[in-house]
Amino acid sequence: MTIKHHPPEHLLAGFVSGPLEEADRLALAVHVAQCRSCRRLVGALERLGGSAIEQAAPVFLRADALSVVLDKVDAKPISMSGTTESMPPAASDLPDVLRNCRFGKKRRVAPGVSMQSLILPSSDQSRAFLLWSAPGAKMLGHTHSGTELTCVLKGSFAHEGGHYGPGDFDYGDDDVNHQPIVGTEEPCLCFVAMSGSLKGNGWIGRLVSPFIRL
Ligand SMILES: [Zn+2]
Repeated sequence: MTIKHHPPEHLLAGFVSGPLEEADRLALAVHVAQCRSCRRLVGALERLGGSAIEQAAPVFLRADALSVVLDKVDAKPISMSGTTESMPPAASDLPDVLRNCRFGKKRRVAPGVSMQSLILPSSDQSRAFLLWSAPGAKMLGHTHSGTELTCVLKGSFAHEGGHYGPGDFDYGDDDVNHQPIVGTEEPCLCFVAMSGSLKGNGWIGRLVSPFIRL
């Protein structure tokens, strides 16, 4: 696997320090698990964070700090949003990082295109789903007002930003107007994490907005 497209450094830094939404964190985890160079960078950032903690002045906790944390651990699980839970995708389609995730129903959203949402904590502001596209599918252009993180799991697609194959990471933000074309060699399976609202002219927005909260 030759990986050519990587997440921007600010996202990798967020992945290490922990402020990402769950969908975005999963997208980073999928890529980092496959990408040696990003694993090296994440390792370096973790060591940097560790030494910063070692050098920090000690902070004194409240006497009941441990029991407060344990109460939170014992509290009932947070409610989950999303469609009715259904069969997970075939394990052979999923990287290890996603195998314990919960999925909604797989839905056909256009000819040759299906999606399956991940069920995330209801507090999460981002959305995540798997997107299957038939070989050679040509997608309409789209823009959005948030971020869109795409990990290619199988197959490939190309747009004006380049060619994306297995392991590649595509980062889209407000400035992006993609018109992707799926490779003809096999179906394309992507993991997509999305935040913000899609503008109405796009293929992803029109395809998936009836099925997930955006
Ligand atoms: Zn990478």
